[in-house]
Parts: sequence; structure tokens; C-alpha cells
Amino acid sequence: MLLPELREKVLETCLQMLRDGLSRVSEGNVSARHPGSGFIVITPSAIPYAKMTVEDLCIITADRKLIEGGWKPTSEIALHTLIYTRRPDVQAVVHTHAPYCSLFAVSGEPLPMVLTESAMLLGGDVPVAPYFTPGSEELARATAEALIDRPAALMANHGAISVGPDLESAYAATLAAEDTARMVCLLRSMNAPIHALPPETTARLRSAYLEKYRPTKA
Ligand SMILES: [Zn+2]
Repeated sequence: MLLPELREKVLETCLQMLRDGLSRVSEGNVSARHPGSGFIVITPSAIPYAKMTVEDLCIITADRKLIEGGWKPTSEIALHTLIYTRRPDVQAVVHTHAPYCSLFAVSGEPLPMVLTESAMLLGGDVPVAPYFTPGSEELARATAEALIDRPAALMANHGAISVGPDLESAYAATLAAEDTARMVCLLRSMNAPIHALPPETTARLRSAYLEKYRPTKA
């Protein structure tokens, strides 16, 4: 079996999505690219995460050839592979139906940056990619375009998607978007004002995070 460690990480991310309530049963899809071979470990279509094993995951190439796996890959294979083709820096893609992000995906409003932690992880507003049929090439193109210079986007009437240099970063961006969406939603329900961070503050937080945020020996 190829790439056993990367398979473990993809499966762990899927299970974390369930634990965090960001996707249910088999909603969403996850992939990670192996930097050495360029092979992509990707979730199969319609297999509940709770029953999924590392053997169930598929290995594909960026031009969508199935290298290893007994199941059909996710129907969003075009979306994942197009992102990897257009973003050489991206090694992981996480698509969820995160509930608060989905509220904004339905209303068509971008997420403003209101929390310092989310500003560090996201670096700016989270846009809404326009609606296209799930699994279509049009959806892949529109969503990859929204992600061309940022780590997260909403998918109109659908959910959220995030990318990163590894699964941990991509997943952290999804959590940051969901935290932001929940915060804005609750503020609105309180009829409270929403004080978004100015773009220059967000940019400063993001660059400080990228430069300095890592475990450091005392
Ligand atoms: Zn979906």
C-alpha cells in the first residue's frame, strides 16, 4: 500500500471533521499531496468516515489517474486536482459543510475578519465562490479561482473549503473560518455592532504569524 503515513493523516482529518461537527456521515472531502511523488491521497465517494479505513482511501495523480484504490474517488476530484495544479504551494485541501460557514455560503456574504486568531490563519476576508453544480468542472474552476491567493473560501449554497501547505494548516483555516462565521452570526442575533479588523491590521497579524508562529525552545 502506497503512502501509509499520509493516508493516516487524511483519515485522521476526516474523523476530526466529524468530531468537530463540520461534516456528517460522508459529507465533504479531504486530500493531501505527497511532495516527493506528487501523488494525491483523496477520500473515496460516499463512504461514511466513521467506517472508513486507510485502505479505502484512493491515490490519484494530478491528472486524475487512479494509481491505487478499490473505490471511486470523491465526486469533487476536479476541484481538488485543479487546486493542486494551480497552487504548487498547496499540499492539502479540506472541503466541509461547516454549519456557520454554510449560512454565509447561502446568504452569499464574505466573512469579515473580526478575530485576531482567524486573521492570522486566514489573512483577509473569506470570499464566496459562485454556485455551480457539485462535482462540475465549472465549480472546480470558480472555486480554485477564489482560492488563488488565500487559504479559505465559501462555496455558494454549499459549504467551505480551505487549503494549506499541510493538512494541519488547511484544517486550521477551516476552523478559523467557522469560528468567524459563528461569531458574526451571534453578534447579529444580539443586534450588536460588528467591528471588523482593518485590512492593514489583518495583514500585519498574518505576516507575523507566518514569520514567527512555531514551537520555539525556551
Ligand atoms: Zn460538499
